[in-house]
Amino acid sequence: MTKTLDIAVFHGDGIGPEIMKPTLQILERLAWAAQSYGLTFQDAPAGASHYAQTGESLPQASMDLARSCDAILLSAMGLPDVRYDDGTEISPQIDLRKELSLFAGVRPVTVKAGQRSPLNLPADREIDFVLIRESTEGLFYSQGRGEVTKDAAKETLLITRSVSEKLFRFAFDLAKTRKSTGRSPGKVTCVDKANVFRAFAFFREIFDAEGAHHPEITADHAYVDATALWMVQKPWDFDVLVTENMFGDILSDLGAGLMGGLGLAPSADIGLDHAVFQPCHGSAPDIAGQGTANPFAMILSAAMMLDWLGLRHDIPEMRADGDRLRQAVDQVVVRGDVLTRDLGGTASTSEAANAVLHAL
Ligand code: NAD
Repeated sequence: MTKTLDIAVFHGDGIGPEIMKPTLQILERLAWAAQSYGLTFQDAPAGASHYAQTGESLPQASMDLARSCDAILLSAMGLPDVRYDDGTEISPQIDLRKELSLFAGVRPVTVKAGQRSPLNLPADREIDFVLIRESTEGLFYSQGRGEVTKDAAKETLLITRSVSEKLFRFAFDLAKTRKSTGRSPGKVTCVDKANVFRAFAFFREIFDAEGAHHPEITADHAYVDATALWMVQKPWDFDVLVTENMFGDILSDLGAGLMGGLGLAPSADIGLDHAVFQPCHGSAPDIAGQGTANPFAMILSAAMMLDWLGLRHDIPEMRADGDRLRQAVDQVVVRGDVLTRDLGGTASTSEAANAVLHAL
């Protein structure tokens, strides 16, 4: 029997629509060939351009659509020149995380054998870890609440027990899944600054309590500054890293750097009932409209969506298609003959996406 799943699509700003278009074409092809699932796509207007035209950044109808669909696929949003009156940028992707309680920002960092990386790894060395960034509170809780006077500015972070418990449970469950597939030895590292801030000692204490429920997984700790160093010096030692929102924001860009750039970094923001899949990068206004944007991070985010939906709705074919899509991108990246400019090649967005289709 075929199960049809509805996907809310936020095309976004800048290069957003340029990388979303070929991604939807690939998903349509996969769903067309699938026996057990179908996909429908419904457009959800939002973002900086939409705000500039209408005065609304995330219309209620788009929010309702996102809530009612089975998953949300989102391209990059925001434009540096389009701002609210308080000087901050339009960022519906952050509003969605808060509204839908998407506490787990999942950022896989993988470098396959033979793939170019700024670390100049030996040919047989691979990197494969997942960074989980808490995505609803931490320092980002202060967004829109900061106090600014003529002489001082103050932003305060928030870490709650209820969100931290869900976050750490998610991290240990992910480590178990990775271990069960032979992908990793089973380790979760809590990344914090518990040596200086009481809030992070609190965070760590909740982590340790959750870790005690998962004796088959190693529960480890690291300070965020040392983690940045080790991500460069020995990234192959990590399995699952879990951290606060702002730390995760910064470390996930470092992770993208290890892979060779933001154009290869996918992500998922996952809660108990909803999930958004989007590349880690922004709307890249400096290259928008040129047809040169790298579509791989968007396509890899779509693969994560297939994994998540396949698991949630028990559709093995969908999970297998997620794997196939990821392998197709890996193949194109390792082969290295059809790469966009950011990866040192000359291919256009559509040529790169077609190479993935061909590999599929
Ligand atoms: P950015 O990620 O858009 O761009 C940083 C650099 O990486 C630029 O040189 C850009 O050309 C390049 N780049 C990014 N994605 C690329 C791709 N797919 N292919 C090739 N090159 C790529 O970050 P920024 O310039 O700091 O932000 C631009 C806008 O995006 C801002 O308005 C920002 O607020 C927004 N933003 C949105 C998100 C999101 O939607 N999740 C994330 C970050 C930034």
